[in-house]
Amino acid sequence: MKKIYQKPVITKLQTGFMNKFGSSPLYARKVRTDIDGVPISELAEKFGSPLFVISEKQLREKYRQIYSAFANRYPNVQFGWSYKTNYLKAVCAVLHQEGAIAEVVSEFEYEKARNIGMEGKDIIFNGPHKTINALKRAALEGAKIHIDHFDEITDLEHIADEIGKQIKVAIRINMDTGIHPQWDRFGFNLETGQALDAVKRIASGGKLVLNGLHCHIGTFILEPEAYGKEVEKMVKFAYEIEDNFGFKIEYLDIGGGFPSKNRLKGTYLPPDVAVPPVEEFAEKITDSLYSNLRPGDFPKLILETGRAIVDEAGYLITTVFASKRLPDGRKAYIADAGVNLLFTAFWYKFNIEIDREVQGSNEPSVIYGPLCMNIDIIDEGTMLPPLKRGTRLIFSPVGAYNNTQWMQFIEYRPNVVMVMEDQTVEIIREKEDLSDIERRERLPERLKIK
Ligand SMILES: *Cc1c(COP(=O)(O)O)cnc(C)c1O
Repeated sequence: MKKIYQKPVITKLQTGFMNKFGSSPLYARKVRTDIDGVPISELAEKFGSPLFVISEKQLREKYRQIYSAFANRYPNVQFGWSYKTNYLKAVCAVLHQEGAIAEVVSEFEYEKARNIGMEGKDIIFNGPHKTINALKRAALEGAKIHIDHFDEITDLEHIADEIGKQIKVAIRINMDTGIHPQWDRFGFNLETGQALDAVKRIASGGKLVLNGLHCHIGTFILEPEAYGKEVEKMVKFAYEIEDNFGFKIEYLDIGGGFPSKNRLKGTYLPPDVAVPPVEEFAEKITDSLYSNLRPGDFPKLILETGRAIVDEAGYLITTVFASKRLPDGRKAYIADAGVNLLFTAFWYKFNIEIDREVQGSNEPSVIYGPLCMNIDIIDEGTMLPPLKRGTRLIFSPVGAYNNTQWMQFIEYRPNVVMVMEDQTVEIIREKEDLSDIERRERLPERLKIK
C-alpha cells in the first residue's frame, strides 16, 4: 500500500519533559475499541455521539474495593453515596444495592433519594442550605441531619417544638488537617472553639440530641495523613462532648474527598504514581481510630466518598467533527462534546483514547468542543496523530461531577447508557430534544409571531 503524504511538522522539544529520545506518558496514545466488551462503534452507532457510558461492572468493583479496604480493617463501616457526584438513578441504584445509603446536600437531592426508594433513616442530609420544609420533612422521616450553622440549630429547635419531639442531629465541623486551602466555610470551626459553642448551644436548648460528628476536608486529597489528623481530632472532640455534655456520639462521618485516577492539570506524574491507593487512606484512617478510640468503643465510621467510586466507571465517546491549523502552527480538532458536557475539563486532563490505529506522527494538538465560546477546550495541548473526521475519541475518567454539572447550553445533552454486567446496554438517561428545553417556557400571547 502506498503511504499517504504527510506534511512535515516541527515539534519543539520542551526541556524537563521526555522527548522523542525517551518515552513519556504524555505521548502514549492508546487504542480503545470497546468498553467491557461492547464495541465503541456499536455504542456510537446505536446510541449516537457524543455518548456517556457508565460501566456497571467497574462501578461495582470500585465500590467493593473501597468498601472492603475499610470493612477489612474496622468492624463498623457504612458508606453514604454522594448524590451530587452522580445522581443518575441507575448509578445511585447500583450503589444502594451494594449497601450504600444516600448522602444529599439539598432539598432536590433529598427528594431524589426518597423518590428512588430510600427511607429517611437511610439518608444523610448535609449542606449549607436546607429549607425549613426540607428540614421538617427530614426530621419527621428520621434522616441523619448534619447541621451546618447556628441558624440551622434555631430552625431545628423550632421544628422540634412544632412536631413535639426531640430531633437527633449531628454537626458538621471543619478543622486544620494540613490541607490548604482549608475548607472552613462549611460547619463549625474546631480550633476557634466555634464547634464547642455549637454543642453548648444544642445542649442548653434541650430540643436536639447530638449523636454524630461530620467533617469533609476537601476533594481530590492526595495526602492520606490528612485523614489521620481529621480522625484524631474528631475522636478527641467526640469524647470531650460525651464527657461534658452526656451525649453519646454514635457515629463519625469523615466525608469524602479520596482522589480518582484522574490527572489534575499542572501535575506531571501520571495518576498511577501520583494518586495513593485507597488502602493507604484506609490504613491511616483506621490506625488513627485505633490509637485514639477507647478500648471496646467502635462508633460507626461513615464515609461519603464520591469521586473515587464513580469517576473511573465513566467514559465519554466523542467524534472528531473537523480539524484546522491554528496560526501558531498547532493542529486543532473540533469534537462534538465540550465543556457543556465535561465540566471537569477545567481541572483535569483526561485520558484520550482513539477508537482505531492511526498512521502518522504525533504532533501537539488542541481539542475544542462544539460551543461557539472561547473557553470550550477539552485539551489545550496533547500529542495526537493526524485524525480523520469521524474518528472517535474516548475521554475518561468522566463518571464524577459531569452528569450532574453538565449544562444545557447551545447543544442538547446526549444519551447516557450503562453497559451492564452481562454486556447488554441500557439507556439510563435519554438524550434531550427541543421539547425538554422549551417545556417550561411561556411565550406571552402578544409576542407570538403570526
Ligand atoms: C461533595 C461531597 C462529598 C463527595 O466528595 P468526593 O470528593 O467526590 O469524594 C462528600 N461529602 C460532602 C459533604 C460533600 O459535599
